Amino acid sequence: MSLTEPKLFVISGPSGAGKGTLVARVRAVRTDLGLTVSATTREPRAGEIDGVNYYFLTDDEFSARIEAGDFVEWAQVHDHRYGTLASEVDRNLATGQSLILEIDVQGALAVKERFPEAVLIFIEPPSLEVLRERLIGRGSETPESLALRLHTAESEMQLRDRYDDIVVNDDLDRATDELLVVLNAHERNAC
Ligand code: 5GP
Repeated sequence: MSLTEPKLFVISGPSGAGKGTLVARVRAVRTDLGLTVSATTREPRAGEIDGVNYYFLTDDEFSARIEAGDFVEWAQVHDHRYGTLASEVDRNLATGQSLILEIDVQGALAVKERFPEAVLIFIEPPSLEVLRERLIGRGSETPESLALRLHTAESEMQLRDRYDDIVVNDDLDRATDELLVVLNAHERNAC
């Protein structure tokens, strides 16, 4: 009997909490972990590749995929739609290894409804003030989009109790280590 059990991990939290960076760092150590490629209607950013970072779809294509029942979940996040394709989840689960979905809070709760055995991990910024500074530091926000992201973050923080674990991203090295421990503990069925 194997000592560990593959898990479906959902990692989410407010925009700017650093979940993308944390997931990348964790996967650099845990190269066995799968990651689903989401679909989105937003434009690719510099360096992003279709089919690698996201499946970039037009609005009509995205609507057609909803209609066809292709999504496990999808959500409107800020100005665009994002969704997890069932084919991506199936492809990764078929490998028999644990899998990460890095998605927004609405999507995370929808996945928990559909897959009650999924493990939800909330990546929390140390404070809303730190989050604000990080979002400003990214340089990609207008005053309006900054206000929207902070407002969304406040409501998302209120849903943190619905998660199985919370990792505060106060320091990247420390938070990466903690996330690795949390993943491992769940795979060992210790919690
Ligand atoms: P970004 O545009 O910065 O890549 O992502 C914006 C937000 O969309 C992030 O919070 C990210 O986690 C979320 N997101 C990415 N893919 C999905 C998905 O498939 N479903 C949901 N619900 N959110 C997603």
